Amino acid sequence: MFVVLGLILLYVSSPENEPEPCRMTMVRIARQSYAGGAMSTSSSVQTPNYVTMLQVALAEARTGLSEGGIPIGAAIFNLRGELISSGHNRRVQQNDPSIHGETDAFRRAGRQRSYLDLIMVTTLAPCWYCSGLVRQFGFRTVIVGESRNFPGGIEWLRSIGVEVIDLASPECITMLADYIRENPGVWNEDIGEPPPQVGCSVVRCNR
Ligand SMILES: [Zn+2]
Repeated sequence: MFVVLGLILLYVSSPENEPEPCRMTMVRIARQSYAGGAMSTSSSVQTPNYVTMLQVALAEARTGLSEGGIPIGAAIFNLRGELISSGHNRRVQQNDPSIHGETDAFRRAGRQRSYLDLIMVTTLAPCWYCSGLVRQFGFRTVIVGESRNFPGGIEWLRSIGVEVIDLASPECITMLADYIRENPGVWNEDIGEPPPQVGCSVVRCNR
């Protein structure tokens, strides 16, 4: 009798039978933080390190490139520097023009109660489509790896009060510039420009 009672108590107190909120808390504590200097698992450091956070978006861009896609990546963090989600452009891989780096990270973040205290980090200045997403959901901070290859809507975002920090990352600039040079047609397609004419050596040349 006591043995049976003991087994029942053991089952009831086992981790698999804990209510969902307990497990959610454990996941949240274990979430990687990109706050302060180096990456840490502590959530006590408050200042986000944008350069370190950009590395997550860059890793996504590299993954996209290795898949044969456009190398643009993004990641979403909270103000403590904890990673919420990340993603990359998969127009080519999935034949889906709606999957930009930012929209991929946005979808992978799942439902969020508010975006006011989330930071969008992206390797490239967000296009109009993604700038609209930032505006629609109320992100207040956008970190961009670069805006040289494409300025997107960053001036418009600034004009409506969004803080846009351009890190002018040489790595981001070079990776995308190389891709555009080798794939001008795919690039124009991605930003909604007509295909480059045969014989044009520059992107967006439509003589
Ligand atoms: Zn976009």
